Amino acid sequence: MDQSDENRKRLQRLCDEIKTRIDYRSFFLRYLSADVRLSGARLQSLCPIPSHEHSGKGNASLSIDLQRGLFHCFSRDEGGDAIRFHELMHGVSFSRAVDEMARGLGINTRGGGEGSLALYSAPDTDAPDAETIASLTVEQQSAVCEAFLNACRDEDQLEGLNYLARRGIDATTVKRAGVVYFPRRAYRRVMRRMLDSFALDELQQSGLFNAREHLTFYRHRLLFPFYVEKRPVYLQARTTAAGVEPRWHNMRGNVPSLYNADILETMPSSTIVYLVEGFTDTLTLAAHGFAAVGLVGAGGLKAEWLATLGRFRVVAALDPDAAGRRAAARYEEMFATRGGPPLACVELSSDVNDFFRHRPTAGLELALLAEAALEVRG
Ligand SMILES: [Zn+2]
Repeated sequence: MDQSDENRKRLQRLCDEIKTRIDYRSFFLRYLSADVRLSGARLQSLCPIPSHEHSGKGNASLSIDLQRGLFHCFSRDEGGDAIRFHELMHGVSFSRAVDEMARGLGINTRGGGEGSLALYSAPDTDAPDAETIASLTVEQQSAVCEAFLNACRDEDQLEGLNYLARRGIDATTVKRAGVVYFPRRAYRRVMRRMLDSFALDELQQSGLFNAREHLTFYRHRLLFPFYVEKRPVYLQARTTAAGVEPRWHNMRGNVPSLYNADILETMPSSTIVYLVEGFTDTLTLAAHGFAAVGLVGAGGLKAEWLATLGRFRVVAALDPDAAGRRAAARYEEMFATRGGPPLACVELSSDVNDFFRHRPTAGLELALLAEAALEVRG
């Protein structure tokens, strides 16, 4: 490969990585005056491109598509992507724009592998389905899961704790739930530890590693383990960054239980247990002293999990949207079909986390709503 070919490849790699990392909204807003109109994913503004020499008084001629990261100035009929925008704003060449933007995003601009971890760590897209791979035993899966959590737990947890604290979830609750943060700078160290402890194919079968022999948990760094009899058997991770899709990544295999369901084992019968959507809502209630279990997605309740809820008074507090209402109605039916105590439902003005963040008396209000709903249900 000659020099120019090599450089072209390098720039292409950096462009790809810039586009996986950039947050278009904050990128473009840096250059625009305060007078910006936002409708949906489209931004309209006065055009700041120096070479256009706009008077600054005319119409908002610059239109930006935040979804795709494209701009267009209607008055000069010039447009392109974010890299082109950087070139025009700073009066630099394409390759210099790429280098400057990559550095600004913390991407290593030299060498092949180091800077493109986001690409190397991507989960396999052609992952074989559960039928065709030799799957691990529950024991093996659990051992991999536990080792990964321990390796991450040895790293600095502060960013993760801060992220959750901003959502009203305190460090004690985080610790009790076993939530772990995986700092990006620890990526190689944690990957090495896992490779030292397990065979590669075992790590690949667990979904922790991909076919490129890299750890797939890179962009999703807040890890939520599912415990069965005090051992983590599965985990799902979410991104803490804006603009990363999908928001979630998990180990291979099926969600084994309701989230936080292991708390039920030691709880006295007839306790009120809240059924909510997702990790944040579950931990929000836990932080306020309520017993709560979480669904992964509004529609995620499986009939085989109802047995674990049978001896409690269960109150669903799902999101007050169409999906939440549909799910609540379906779960009421599932509970009724099973013949045990019925499911009571409450609808809050927002999701549980928002409700608790914005109302000082949220705990009391929820308890009263739950009592009322249980009374109606008999
Ligand atoms: Zn312009």
